[in-house]
Amino acid sequence: MYLHGTSKINDHGHLEIGGVDSTKLTADFGTPLYVFDEALVRQRCREYVDAFRASGFKFQVAYASKAFLVKAMCRIALEEGMSLDVVSDGELFTALEAGFPAERIHFHGNNKTPQEIEMAIDAKIGCFVVDNFVEMQMLNAIAAHKQQKVNVLLRVTPGVEAHTHEFISTGQTDSKFGFDLGNGSAFKAIQEAAQLSNLELLGIHSHIGSQIFEVEGFQMAADRLASLAVKVRSELQVTFKVINLGGGFGIRYVAGNTPLPIAVYVKAITDAVRENFSSNDYPLPEIWVEPGRSIVGDAGTTLYTVGTSKDIPGVRKYVAVDGGMTDNPRPALYDSVYEAMLANRATEESQEVVTIAGKCCESGDMLIWDLSLPKVNNGDILAVSCTGAYNYAMASNYNRIRRPAVVFVKDGQADLVVKRESFNDIVGNDVIPERMKLTSTRV
Ligand SMILES: *Cc1c(COP(=O)(O)O)cnc(C)c1O
Repeated sequence: MYLHGTSKINDHGHLEIGGVDSTKLTADFGTPLYVFDEALVRQRCREYVDAFRASGFKFQVAYASKAFLVKAMCRIALEEGMSLDVVSDGELFTALEAGFPAERIHFHGNNKTPQEIEMAIDAKIGCFVVDNFVEMQMLNAIAAHKQQKVNVLLRVTPGVEAHTHEFISTGQTDSKFGFDLGNGSAFKAIQEAAQLSNLELLGIHSHIGSQIFEVEGFQMAADRLASLAVKVRSELQVTFKVINLGGGFGIRYVAGNTPLPIAVYVKAITDAVRENFSSNDYPLPEIWVEPGRSIVGDAGTTLYTVGTSKDIPGVRKYVAVDGGMTDNPRPALYDSVYEAMLANRATEESQEVVTIAGKCCESGDMLIWDLSLPKVNNGDILAVSCTGAYNYAMASNYNRIRRPAVVFVKDGQADLVVKRESFNDIVGNDVIPERMKLTSTRV
């Protein structure tokens, strides 16, 4: 397993993260356990902010909170000079509860409810990223009713789709998100937004994919947004202050994933925006980006206790851990791949190839196929790396399994930031109707 950030093997032959022995973490907090290397999260934030500072552009780096949001994470984002993207009332509530400044919160999503819009306007958030015509009219009407003018970006589908090493220029009209650039709907949306008196149109936004390892997709998106901006300026006399190029910056889950340094992505984006806008005598806009995975992904490690195993001679050996798709649904959802090691026997040679299964009643509940490990014993601690993004955030109570605790580790100290769910959390919202009271049981 590749050792990210402060992770290392200590003198006891144990995995250590943030200066804390993983066997101490599991003894103190139990398993499964999400562990975040706080220094690495902060380092990733700084890589973005520092690279933008060096570019001379005005900027906002908005952490895409859907990747992993808890109150303590809001504090880190705040301390590191980030803005915050939210996509629901729950994320907005979390951010506000944590004291995150509303003016640095951006609200995304393709189906914001009237209640969410009201809540966000009342909180005085910084910007709405408007996704479609229905939302635009609804937002304007609610803002008018509240006698407010709200900042908006319009989400444009630029016809660039990027995934890992491939980026494709597509018509890509068939997306649930955004105003299509190719079929003229983006231009129409801008025209409409500019005329709505309770919207302040700051600019346009695009998000071209996820787990992207190349700069070309971002450069192509910047080029297309710039062309649109230039056309809008000459035909509608509307000048954008902000160009938002979204997120999707890749991370290393396994060997073969080759993300570029964050500064390289940022330089490619700032260079592309400078070129495309200044060559058209366009006042240089602010640049906003929205990294999620690349802020928290490689800083997360999940620790499990090994339980049972099943050896099918000549076929495969399954080793089960005390979590699974409930704490990490990504392998089941997307065939995502992960690396892992025995955290309590980190220096031992590999002796067998096993498949790591979860404990859920679902054959698809697999975490890692064909993993080389030392001879695995019941009670060993399995560490799976790179689980910081879209793991806790996507965790569920399937099989009424309680969601794990989350700890932040830094400089030898471990702090609980989310408690392990209790049995009462599991049944706390259940209601037994009066007519089902125990006395009505048939005997
Ligand atoms: C998911 C998302 C992001 C973050 O994507 P990552 O791949 O986690 O960096 C940013 N912007 C928008 C609009 C998104 O939907």
